[in-house]
Amino acid sequence: MAAPKVAVVGAGVIGLSTALCIMETCPNCSVTILSEQFSPNTTSDVAAGMLIPHTYPDTPIHVQKQWFKETFTYLFAISNSAEASEAGIHLVSGWQVFKNTPKEELPFWSDVVLGFRPMSKAELQKFPQHQSGQAFTTLKCDCPPYLSWLEKRLKAAGVQMYTRKVADLWELHGKYDIIVNCAGIGAHQLVGDKKLLPVRGQVLKVHAPWVKNFIRDRDGLTYIYPGIHRITLGGTREKENWSLSPDPGTTKDIFDRCCSLEPSLWGAQDIQVKVGLRPSRQCVRLQREVLSQGGVKLLVVHNYGHGAGGFSVHRGTAKEAAGLVGECIAALQGSSSKAKL
Ligand code: FAD
Repeated sequence: MAAPKVAVVGAGVIGLSTALCIMETCPNCSVTILSEQFSPNTTSDVAAGMLIPHTYPDTPIHVQKQWFKETFTYLFAISNSAEASEAGIHLVSGWQVFKNTPKEELPFWSDVVLGFRPMSKAELQKFPQHQSGQAFTTLKCDCPPYLSWLEKRLKAAGVQMYTRKVADLWELHGKYDIIVNCAGIGAHQLVGDKKLLPVRGQVLKVHAPWVKNFIRDRDGLTYIYPGIHRITLGGTREKENWSLSPDPGTTKDIFDRCCSLEPSLWGAQDIQVKVGLRPSRQCVRLQREVLSQGGVKLLVVHNYGHGAGGFSVHRGTAKEAAGLVGECIAALQGSSSKAKL
């Protein structure tokens, strides 16, 4: 059989990392990325890019933990290499604080991040409104540089990229053997997935280079995530709100909440406002599907619905999706050798 032709729909963190994993596991494939938008105009560009997992209620915890571990290990190696600053990957330490001490056991990811421990009394003095907290070190992706780094690696591996909106996966039949759907919230329309809903998030990206530690208020929606050049201040979670327009009232509310956690932020400058739609689902859709129309078949692998945690698990889910593409290729090779007999 000739080199299998794979089309990846979507160029956010999920599409790009999935395309890269396909090239790594199947170097003789021809991979093309088709996407309506590329960086810097995707949801992935808006994200803070912190590696702190979100929990998907319908995905077994051991699976989520494995995805997170693979992603953490992959990015940790980059953070310890000469590629780190170009890829926008760095370690960041900080605190998640609670007004009421949580009843839940340790989060499932506590032994994947580094040095997870209860905060000391001295650390808690910084947060007079909070009763307890946990300190740890994790990784952060500065999203636009990380997406550019992925694109650069893909181009070097010979992956073609085209700006194109795909209205129906069947448009790609005949030209490609396997279609990989990484359309994020776009999958709501593309494959009519009504279980996939937007959770709108508004954030501020500010200049405040003296803030070095992350702070996450676990009782609310407030967070401060320092990147290499800018700090992300958040946030909001508005279910089923499709609006991409920044709301000035929300901007003021986010800024006030963050300043109450870290008063030095009153001196922050160059405030930019960004909005993104988290592609939310009870579980990530990571599965093979054979579409059929009048006896004609189309092989599809879905990898979308990463909600609030796409950066935290992207490498793990990309590897799993690449494995599913491998299964499709094996099935195609099986049917082409049968046809020759
Ligand atoms: P996207 O980035 O939206 O990419 C989808 C791609 O598909 C785009 O290129 C789009 O143009 C393309 N597309 C869609 N439809 C079509 C079509 N019909 N034809 C062709 N192309 C199409 N996650 C974390 O892990 N840590 C964080 O700190 C974090 N912070 C966040 C903060 C905010 C405010 C928001 C909004 C999200 C945050 N997230 C975070 C979540 C994270 O951003 C998402 O889970 C992740 O970006 C999803 O990636 P994606 O590639 O699936 O989607």
